[in-house]
Amino acid sequence: MRPAIFLDRDGVIVENREAYIRSWADVSFIPAALEALRALARSDWAIIIATNQAAVGKGIITLELAHQINQRIIAEVVRCGGRIDAAYLCPHRPDEHCDCRKPKPGMLLRAAYDLGLDLSRSVMIGDAITDMQAARAASVRGILVTTGRGLSEWRAFADAPWFDVADDLACAIESLAPLERVAR
Ligand SMILES: [Mg+2]
Ligand SMILES: [Zn+2]
Repeated sequence: MRPAIFLDRDGVIVENREAYIRSWADVSFIPAALEALRALARSDWAIIIATNQAAVGKGIITLELAHQINQRIIAEVVRCGGRIDAAYLCPHRPDEHCDCRKPKPGMLLRAAYDLGLDLSRSVMIGDAITDMQAARAASVRGILVTTGRGLSEWRAFADAPWFDVADDLACAIESLAPLERVAR
């Protein structure tokens, strides 16, 4: 079974928008994220996006458009030499109490089931405490990046010893122990 790197999307790969990413015009990649994903592409890690998109449940964007934006982000990653093996999207509002919206681990567990992943060797990289909570609930190592909302989230939960912190996606990937996987 392969280990996975689960990636939150907004605040990790692309910049957060205060009022949600509603169209391709709202998408701007975080510096060095594309290069980091290119470096990761030749590794053994399964690379999986797990993103909350409550804008869908709130009727701000359609599910179809949310998937289209996801696919276009992935296409841009691929165009730059990177790889995304799968993408999971929770369209629900918090008050719908689904099993997939982070901090619930549903998307990670579903991916493990679908793709045969070894969660005990997997990592979740996100900019929100809810990403870290989802990681913990799935027994996955969490790395909080201080891009996106990460810095304020880290300050609010600085006494929490149960996740690691990195400056950005590139630093988070560099901090992973089996660097030779990446270098090969
Ligand atoms: Mg985020
Ligand atoms: Zn959901």
